[in-house]
Amino acid sequence: MAGTATGAAGPADEPPASPAPGAEEYPSLDLADSAIALPGGHFIDFLGTPAAANDWLAAHALAPADAGLRETCAAQLRSLREHVRSLIAARVEGQAPPAGALNAVNDALTRAPAAELLHWSAERGLHRAAAHPTTQILDHALAALATDAARLLTGPDADRLTACGSPPCNRYLLRRGRRHWCSTRCGDRARAARAYARRAARPAEPETGADGTPDA
Ligand SMILES: [Zn+2]
Repeated sequence: MAGTATGAAGPADEPPASPAPGAEEYPSLDLADSAIALPGGHFIDFLGTPAAANDWLAAHALAPADAGLRETCAAQLRSLREHVRSLIAARVEGQAPPAGALNAVNDALTRAPAAELLHWSAERGLHRAAAHPTTQILDHALAALATDAARLLTGPDADRLTACGSPPCNRYLLRRGRRHWCSTRCGDRARAARAYARRAARPAEPETGADGTPDA
């Protein structure tokens, strides 16, 4: 499936190869971007199955690779994703956030103690560590993601949040400079669409052949 892109005929229905700008720094942004709309009406959901959701959490150091997530767990992650997306969308558009999304993120925030407690051991002395009972893996993951979303939405980077400007892409990103595309592929597609629109809007030039070559 992951073939190499050749020339202009790249595999447009594959997901972008890299996280959106900012998504490596903020796991909650990566969560928001974990269901991607692709050209041609395709859609890929990295939380679509329990196994996929487990892989996603493991890749973000939020669960062991063998946590054995169930569908109810994956569904809770997908639900938090939609609420985080609602909050990001409201922030980007300068609108009041939906109360339901605020409540859901706050519910996740308070589900498990996110605070790292103070411990002492002979080997390490005083140190801080989060309590991670295995029965609460999902609650801790949801709490960590909700905490991260709150950090993103209230921190200095919130002003750089933006939606990818290359339809049909639905990823959010942190803008760097003027770039407002989540990936090189989205940027290329947006530029190609603009060039096509310009050509389509331009009246036909009589001295130019239909194939674009000047008449002799
Ligand atoms: Zn994009």
